[in-house]
Amino acid sequence: MYTGAIPQHDVETTRRTFSSLGLSPAILDSIRSIGFEHPTEIQSLAIRPALAGDDLIGLAQTGSGKTAAFALPMAQRLTHGRGLRGLILCPTREIALQTKAFLDLFGQDHKLRSVCVIGGVKMGPQIQRLRQDPDIVVATPGRLFDHMERRNVSLRRVRMLVIDEADHMLDLGFLPQIRRILEAIPERRQTLMFSATMPPPIERLAQRFMKEPVRIDVLPAGRAAEGISHRLYMVQPEDRTACLLELLQQETGSTLIFIRRKIDAEWLCKQLEPAGMQVERIHSNLSQGQRVAALQGLRSGEHRILIATDIAARGIDIPVIEHIINFTLPEKVEDYIHRAGRTARGTADGLVSSIATWQDLPRIREIEKTIEKELPRCVVPGIEPYVERKKTIKGRKLLRRRLL
Ligand code: AMP
Repeated sequence: MYTGAIPQHDVETTRRTFSSLGLSPAILDSIRSIGFEHPTEIQSLAIRPALAGDDLIGLAQTGSGKTAAFALPMAQRLTHGRGLRGLILCPTREIALQTKAFLDLFGQDHKLRSVCVIGGVKMGPQIQRLRQDPDIVVATPGRLFDHMERRNVSLRRVRMLVIDEADHMLDLGFLPQIRRILEAIPERRQTLMFSATMPPPIERLAQRFMKEPVRIDVLPAGRAAEGISHRLYMVQPEDRTACLLELLQQETGSTLIFIRRKIDAEWLCKQLEPAGMQVERIHSNLSQGQRVAALQGLRSGEHRILIATDIAARGIDIPVIEHIINFTLPEKVEDYIHRAGRTARGTADGLVSSIATWQDLPRIREIEKTIEKELPRCVVPGIEPYVERKKTIKGRKLLRRRLL
């Protein structure tokens, strides 16, 4: 059984078979070696058109198996030694590294060489690897763009392009760079784009840069992973930290705490350490080495708590995470869903607790509308809950809501 860098955990699969999707015997062998028995929904729908060379828009959330949905066809369609033919754009360094692990495995038969071009690490070694005749580049847009400007890489032979988590790249402000990158790639190419949402700028990108794409939507109803229990703790602003400490004591499993700003992640880490918590943090001011170590530490159980900014909200696949705590609610509803998606990966169960104050009420209503359920109000011992006054939709009168 394969024990390499590909994360392993239960994920919901279909009853179809990989061999019915047009994949080569060598690729089917690699699939078996990592223990994938049946394709997931997105794999079963995307692999055939991707192998046929069609452009494709896949509406799929992280954790639905989409990395293999594009890595398998790419590994089968490209062969080594014809120049840089494949380009995969990812929003975060961690997703890029995970994607490269898939390509290293599935590309063995065609001797494919892939290079990761990500920020936060030195340019020198990347330049060297870019000179060693890679077939595929897996990149975050910012760093790839730097290399393009310095003429370290040419995209003029790229034939297959994947844009992964397109909506998230938009949030991170990569859109201008993505446009410039797309303009540097020949028009005669195949483009596969994946996204969990389809906001207008992404739609426009799709219309301008894709040719009659096949559209595949495997987003679940409610658009948040199943198996997740949500809890909401309404508190006074000054009680946030006390509430968090109590929650960390109640739930003793592996926990990912989300916070909006890097500076606050550092601050919170310093609040928790004296309380004897094994805690680390991850955000974009840390070096790539520190970020990988922080994730690895959570995976291996070296620390049980990781504090993260939204940079870690998507794509990170750590099956052990049992509890997500939103120390601050995210700006956007999509980010609530993506943060929540870091637990209950595949078919596991998970818990998402959010700490909020009265100022968050409009955002809470928006989240509830999107996930089509009310976030159950909960309390922790010793902390006076904030009691909401809520307008009923029909009666338009103010009600005092009982806290659970
Ligand atoms: P992804 O959405 O690509 O990040 O994949 C989520 C997780 O599902 C990863 O741990 C993959 O290794 C796993 N996975 C993907 N496809 C399958 C499959 N067909 N059978 C079992 N596990 C899978």
